[in-house]
Amino acid sequence: MANVVGTATTRDIGASGSPLLDRRGRELRDIRISVTDRCNFRCVYCMPKQIFGRDYAFMPREELLTFEEITRLARISVANGVEKIRLTGGEPLLRKGLPDLVRMLSQLRTPQGAEVDIAVTTNGSALALLASDLKHAGLKRVTVSLDSLDDEIFQAMNDVRFPVSKVLNAIDVARDVGLWPVKVNMVVKRGLNDSDVVDMASHFRNSGHILRFIEFMDVGSTNGWELAQVVPSAEILERIGAVFPIEPVDANYPGETSKRWRYKDGSGEIGVISSVTQSFCHSCTRARVSVDGKLYTCLFATEGHDLREMMRGGCEDEELEAKLAWIWRNRQDRYSELRSRNTRMPNAKRIEMSYIGG
Ligand code: SAM
Ligand code: SF4
Ligand code: SF4
Repeated sequence: MANVVGTATTRDIGASGSPLLDRRGRELRDIRISVTDRCNFRCVYCMPKQIFGRDYAFMPREELLTFEEITRLARISVANGVEKIRLTGGEPLLRKGLPDLVRMLSQLRTPQGAEVDIAVTTNGSALALLASDLKHAGLKRVTVSLDSLDDEIFQAMNDVRFPVSKVLNAIDVARDVGLWPVKVNMVVKRGLNDSDVVDMASHFRNSGHILRFIEFMDVGSTNGWELAQVVPSAEILERIGAVFPIEPVDANYPGETSKRWRYKDGSGEIGVISSVTQSFCHSCTRARVSVDGKLYTCLFATEGHDLREMMRGGCEDEELEAKLAWIWRNRQDRYSELRSRNTRMPNAKRIEMSYIGG
């Protein structure tokens, strides 16, 4: 899983028409870009207050990739096979002018002339305000995180007393402006919100939105992850299936991370993302760009490749493209596949999700 940092040559360029393949034969198809490492929530599983307190040193503004730099990287990635771009963070809607970035990215076209699928993952706190601007800027889809319908539990999880009602309202606003269907992400942590699984399923049935249950992951080094806190997707499906009969649905595309299920009575669809109990590294086609422009080839990578330094050093597009291709061709990450079932993998320098982009 170690990243290979080295020199690229023009022979590494992948825009020739043939897909960029890594050392395990996986194409580069999507990138997640963290547009800010800041967040107004302090979710206990992501940015615990004890670590991300008042004196936590977030990235200074000048360190962040500018919108022009992000768009340049995105354009080169799209020329090399990327079809999906997800803006994330931290809380991406806190990045000033986000609709402008969406507008810039939505101009991009694949070598075949197709539009690029642009999405945003958000905690929903500012979505009611920005949904319409984002839609007009060209955003197609939005994923909203919501871990519980119970205010006490939700507020204990976001740790800033943010109420459920505002997130639900944001989901409605997103639907009303045409960012629909909304995907709703629920991270399930045993003993904290797993009692809410069936209530959440019940709430979002018949709404047209797609609720996805995410296994609590051992990302970063601050969330105190233990395997015992993971609720396996199989258990989630069993609990839901006992109340609302469900059946599996084919994936929308090869390598889809969320396994799809639908209610047998036609009342909608859910998904499970089983990063811990059924890893999907074999089909992982995703790269991540950190808030300061480092490219990571895995959520659990310990080192990134500094593309911002190249860009600010005045490199040509061809050099950037060759570097991207070289990085991808040398990729062999498969952290989740290797993760021990009993304990987290030894890994001294883990990168926090808010920095690398969840
Ligand atoms: N702030 C935005 C949000 O919460 O939607 C975007 C960034 S957040 C890091 C992206 C997604 O990662 C969220 O759905 C969040 O619940 C999920 N996430 C964060 N930490 C996680 C963990 N340890 N295990 C599983 N999912 C996690
Ligand atoms: Fe913020 Fe999202 Fe992390 Fe929660 S999961 S602390 S909302 S970045
Ligand atoms: Fe992809 Fe790394 Fe996650 Fe495996 S562990 S699915 S390689 S990001």
